[in-house]
Amino acid sequence: MPNADQNDILFERARAVIPGGVNSPVRAFKAVGGTPRFIRRAEGAYFWDANDKRYIDYIGSWGPMILGHGHPAVVEAVQKAVLEGFSYGAPTEREIELAEAILALVPSMEMVRLVSSGTEAAMSALRLARGATGRKHIIKFEGCYHGHADALLVKAGSGLATFGHPTSAGVPPEVTQHTLVLEYNNIAQLEEAFALHGNDIACLMIEAIAGNMNFVRATPEFAARCRALCTQHGALLVFDEVMTGFRVGLHGAQGVLGITPDLTVLGKVIGGGMPLAAFGGPRAIMEQLAPLGPVYQAGTLSGNPVATACGLATLKEIAKPGFYESLSKKTQSLVEGLKAAAAAEGQPFNADSEGGMFGFFLMNELPQNYATVMTTDNAKFNALFHGLLDRGVYIAPALYEAGFVSAAHTDEDIAATVEAARQIFRASQPR
Ligand SMILES: *Cc1c(COP(=O)(O)O)cnc(C)c1O
Repeated sequence: MPNADQNDILFERARAVIPGGVNSPVRAFKAVGGTPRFIRRAEGAYFWDANDKRYIDYIGSWGPMILGHGHPAVVEAVQKAVLEGFSYGAPTEREIELAEAILALVPSMEMVRLVSSGTEAAMSALRLARGATGRKHIIKFEGCYHGHADALLVKAGSGLATFGHPTSAGVPPEVTQHTLVLEYNNIAQLEEAFALHGNDIACLMIEAIAGNMNFVRATPEFAARCRALCTQHGALLVFDEVMTGFRVGLHGAQGVLGITPDLTVLGKVIGGGMPLAAFGGPRAIMEQLAPLGPVYQAGTLSGNPVATACGLATLKEIAKPGFYESLSKKTQSLVEGLKAAAAAEGQPFNADSEGGMFGFFLMNELPQNYATVMTTDNAKFNALFHGLLDRGVYIAPALYEAGFVSAAHTDEDIAATVEAARQIFRASQPR
């Protein structure tokens, strides 16, 4: 069977032993249909699937691969670290170096704790916020994702500013009864929530540039109102920058918006593709953590020596002068190219980007919240996704995900992507 599709064969094998054949749901192509591509190797801006077909990669492992795959300085740092041992369960100098590097770039943080995943970091930040304030309620926004801790797997209840309902089986309603779920960019609802519950709110957690409902910015007014209401009511403002940290700019979404959160959650880029995440903030709050304070938090592999080597080497590269200017320009040229191609072919379209992160919508306006994002024509998005995939361009397999450009993407890659999209837009227009 010389023409057998190796991805199909692997998917069948995977499904026999791994639920849905994947270790994280969005990889399964459930939203867009078809067979997930099993990746064999990656280099620069590309990866190759099990059929040895090459794709221009606009996922970058969902954000971490900001330098592209296999950056020589990062590979060298990791190889060196591996030879020194995989894990000790005892502190290392490299953890201090990474902590110092992160704190130097994110001025709102005075101390940081390293963990292994964004989920773990967000969950720990939540516990810390509750422990430090002695309060139990938390605010989150529909369409923002903060990992899969029980209290955060919620959707809005009916009515304004109500407590959420679980979105996953296995989460008892009691666990989400302290989570207020509000509409993103809705100032009136935010004010109502604080007016009703202000004295009981431990923290407000937000993706200030949201990347888990495609790409939606908090308006400057909304972000400022979040900051002001938290300060006024003694609640902590938590920026979940797992996606935006070192991705939208060297100082994250907080740098872009000019807002100082109380706690910051980081992940993705800070591990450079290895399991590494972090949360941090002012000394007085961070010292509430064990072993100094009463808020328990721990991890066998936290601050892993290979992961920290990978993260440090990645941070070193992105802190070089001009890195984000060049990355932003590249991302903008993709976004502008796609807009022009859509306009030329009569396809309703809009797009936005910041640093190396972008989103596009098959509609004329830029959505301000999750409900609007989800009005996107699903069938049209799926046709675009598969059309691009056929042409060797790999974007996120769901319309509610952001996209990522790396430093390794070339002008030729961007031009080829725009041309592929133009062909698909043209073929899909009635004539
Ligand atoms: C990816 C992501 C998380 C979860 O991180 P994991 O490492 O997948 O657990 C949390 N918050 C945001 C904003 C994310 O994008």
